[in-house]
Amino acid sequence: MAIKNILVIGAGQMGAGIAEVCATAGYTVFLCDTSEQALEAGLARITKNLEKNVAKERISEADKTATLARFTFITQMSEATDIDLAIEAATENMAVKQAIFKQLDAFLPEHAILASNTSSLPITELAAVTKRPQQVIGMHFMNPVPVMKLVEIIRGLATKDEVYTAIEEMTHALKKTPVEVNDFPGFVSNRILMPMINEAIYTLYEGVASVEAIDDVMKLGMNHPMGPLTLADFIGLDTCLYIMETLYEGFGDSKYRPCPLLRKYVAAGWYGKKSGRGFYVYE
Ligand code: NAD
Repeated sequence: MAIKNILVIGAGQMGAGIAEVCATAGYTVFLCDTSEQALEAGLARITKNLEKNVAKERISEADKTATLARFTFITQMSEATDIDLAIEAATENMAVKQAIFKQLDAFLPEHAILASNTSSLPITELAAVTKRPQQVIGMHFMNPVPVMKLVEIIRGLATKDEVYTAIEEMTHALKKTPVEVNDFPGFVSNRILMPMINEAIYTLYEGVASVEAIDDVMKLGMNHPMGPLTLADFIGLDTCLYIMETLYEGFGDSKYRPCPLLRKYVAAGWYGKKSGRGFYVYE
């Protein structure tokens, strides 16, 4: 199961990062998004990061040029040729992702593996809309992709061992560390992280302490590099709410109920850093 050519779907903050680390590792990358503007924003993000690496002497100017030369930017998935692996990093929405998986299944070569970077949606449900559920797997990269070492690799119910092994090897080739996880809501990362963030929001909601005080307690007392409310703003409050709802629905357990304050912020369009306002205000 040699992987050479990769199709990345979605050129947002995660897709651009995934495409960058794949091209840096020597893979040929097709990057697909729905509009030219989204692709341009993705390319700008990738170029900026590569330039930072040149400035810090982590890579040479020639490495940067060679990495960028491995890209093809497309607005139709079907323009990608000879694909061995597709990594979907589109919006966190089951209907959007299932439509993408159906389309990929219809035109990709028979041997191709379909991976999703979903933060919380069941891999088995994505696999079920394809005729190759044994070749569907989760590759959950962390944000920011070029920096973070972990990739949670999620086995769907039908994922074949050879597919798991191929993805594990490829993750090593990206200089990342794979961790094997089974397909349950939130996997491991968000099942543990999100209830902590949600509890921090409840602590604020109930007036136990201020935003800054909650973050200080977790930073100075628990040695977390970032307080939970800062982290929530960084992830995106809409994404946090979506993941809490997936946990709540998936387990049917009231301990995962999203905090009403989180719902209110999202309803107001306060999504955190990306919208300029969340628990903190960003200039
Ligand atoms: P984003 O909004 O920055 O990017 C999503 C991109 O997908 C957009 O550019 C959008 O135009 C594109 N897109 C939507 N539908 C498409 C389609 N049919 N074909 C091609 N492109 C399409 O979102 P993001 O933060 O990059 O998240 C992407 C995925 O990664 C989500 O599943 C999310 O849960 C997951 N994820 C996010 C984080 C995080 O911290 N933000 C971390 C890990 C995983």
